[in-house]
Amino acid sequence: MAFPKLLVLGTGGTIAGAARSATGKSYGAGEVAIDAIVSEVARLGLDVELVAKTIARIGSQDIGWDQWDALHREIAAAQGDDSIAGIIVTHGTDTAEETAYLLDLTLAAGKPVVLVGAMRPTDAVGSDGMRNFANAVQVARDDRAAHRGVMVVMGDAVFAAPDVRKAATSNINAFRGFPRGPIALATPSSIDWFAPPHREGSSARFAWPEALPRVAILTAGAGMDAKPVEALLGIGCKGIVIAGMGQGNAPRVVLDALADAVRSGVPVVRSTRVDEGLVDRNVEVDDDANGFVASRALGPAKARMLLMMLIASGITDQERIQANFDRP
Ligand code: ASP
Repeated sequence: MAFPKLLVLGTGGTIAGAARSATGKSYGAGEVAIDAIVSEVARLGLDVELVAKTIARIGSQDIGWDQWDALHREIAAAQGDDSIAGIIVTHGTDTAEETAYLLDLTLAAGKPVVLVGAMRPTDAVGSDGMRNFANAVQVARDDRAAHRGVMVVMGDAVFAAPDVRKAATSNINAFRGFPRGPIALATPSSIDWFAPPHREGSSARFAWPEALPRVAILTAGAGMDAKPVEALLGIGCKGIVIAGMGQGNAPRVVLDALADAVRSGVPVVRSTRVDEGLVDRNVEVDDDANGFVASRALGPAKARMLLMMLIASGITDQERIQANFDRP
C-alpha cells in the first residue's frame, strides 16, 4: 500500500539548529539541512512518504517577504497537486505566529498545512524537534485536519493560526492559544481533536499581494511622549499597531498623536502588551472619536499581519478594518 505523501518545506529555525554541544546554550538556527532532518524522521517508521524542499535556512527572526512569497507559492501549488496529502513547514518559533497567520489569511483551507518548530536544537539533550515533527506528521496526514486552515504544532499541542502565540522564551511548552486553547492534542501515535474548524468556507480570505506595506508595532510605556509616533510617520509607516497598556491604552499625548496619524490617513489599531485578553472598542479610549480600531483577540504581532494584509488589499477605512478584526 502506498503511504500518503507529505511535502516538507524547510525554512530553518531551532528545529534545524545545531549546537555541537548537548548541554551548551548557544547554537546556530537553520544549520541542519531539511533533507537531513527528513531522513532522520523517515527512520521513525511513520508510514508516510516525505518530500523535502528548502525555502531558506534562517532563524525566523529574519523571515520576511521573500520567504513568505516562496512558501505561499509552494503551498498553493501543493494544494492543487493530487499526489500530496498535506504540507509541513519547519519554522523557527520566534515568528511562527506571524507566518502561520499570514498564510492562513491567504491560502484556501483545503489540505492540512502545519507549521512545526522546536525550542531545543537537534543535538541538545532532550531535543524536542523530532517529537514535534512526528506530531506534525500525524496532523498533516489526518483527514480531520483538512479545511482547518494553517495550524501550528508544538509540544504535543495543535493550535489554529489566529490563536497561537509564543509565550515563553525557553520552555519546551512555549506556545499558547487565545481565545481558543489547543484545538487538538497530538503524539507520534495519536491525535485527538477538540474543536471545530475556525475557518468559514474553503476559499482564501485575501488574494496574495504584490508586496506588504510598512506597518510598525509601537509598545506603550509609562511616561513616554509622542516622539516615537512622529518618528514612525516620518519613516513612512502606512499603519501603526499600538501594543498598549491593559486594554490597549497609552498616555494621552500618545493617543492624541495617534489620532492625528489617523486624520492623516494612517490606520491605527489598538492591541495590548498584556499577555492575553480582548481589546474592545470604546472601553477607556474613545475609538469612535479618535478613529482607532480595536484589535479584539489579536495580539500585536498578528494584528500587524492583518493590518498589512488589509492595507495591501486597499482596505483602509476604520469600519472595514474593524469588521476584519471582529472576525480574526
Ligand atoms: N530564533 C529561533 C527562530 O525563531 C528560535 C527558535 O526557532 O526556536 O528561528
